Amino acid sequence: MISEQTIRSAVECSGIGLHSGAPVSMRMMPAASGTGIVFRRTDLDGYEIEAVSRNVARVSYATSLMKKGVFISTTEHLLSAFIGMGIDNAIVELDNLELPILDGSARPFVEMIRKAGVRKQRRARKYLKMRRELEMREGNKFIAVYPADVYSVSYSINFPHPLIGKETFEVELSNGSYLRHIAGARTFGSREDEQAMRNMGLIRGASSENCIVLTRDGVENGPLRYEDEFVRHKVLDLVGDLALLGKQILGKVVADRAGHAMHTALVSRILRDKTLWEEVTVDGEEPARTQAASAEAAAGAH
Ligand SMILES: [Zn+2]
Repeated sequence: MISEQTIRSAVECSGIGLHSGAPVSMRMMPAASGTGIVFRRTDLDGYEIEAVSRNVARVSYATSLMKKGVFISTTEHLLSAFIGMGIDNAIVELDNLELPILDGSARPFVEMIRKAGVRKQRRARKYLKMRRELEMREGNKFIAVYPADVYSVSYSINFPHPLIGKETFEVELSNGSYLRHIAGARTFGSREDEQAMRNMGLIRGASSENCIVLTRDGVENGPLRYEDEFVRHKVLDLVGDLALLGKQILGKVVADRAGHAMHTALVSRILRDKTLWEEVTVDGEEPARTQAASAEAAAGAH
């Protein structure tokens, strides 16, 4: 039976928030079975916010959680790393309102988890297994989830840029391939949109160190880690947003030009309709996540 997992020891990092530009220190700690992922604001008397759908607040360029007026912003890359590494339970302390963006991917979080070590817990992990399909459309955006025995994602984007255009990436996540194919993919933005976003109070912490900067016809801070890094990053974001289900999902997710708002809308629709899914346990062993995300991505492995 595949059981719940937590990390073995506490690990820390510090950085700045992508949107707020605020300096932040983060500490990941082990947690008991059944805890889930819980954020704790140490600058606000240890106020806790669970990483679950009911606490989703404002969602636009990033996913933010809010509980009684207290925010935790840009949760998606860390939550994605937890799913990718098979971590069910952890406490994440922050001394500011936004998670550190680090290099713009989930790789630094994966490396932290690897450094902390992974510990199996006694309780069997409960998966959310889709029994029926659910499709959502919004203009030309689409997201859906279909019944399947494993977790897989197929994502398509169509971005009007000579380096991107239409990209589709399909990956099975249950077998540990997250580390190799997804974790290293960085967030991206264009020079052309920069001022408009800054005027909205966004990307104050953005730099060429933490995102791929697109120019009109190329990349300012290449090389890319993967030829199709952009769509892989969308998969990374989707996995992080779907973590707000509070359980690992068994199903095939298909997305086309979706974003944080549609990802989180899918999560709340799934949770609202209990005829769509059932809770199951899974026999067997969790796949070992032994591949070094950094080595693979640095080698340009596809
Ligand atoms: Zn992202």
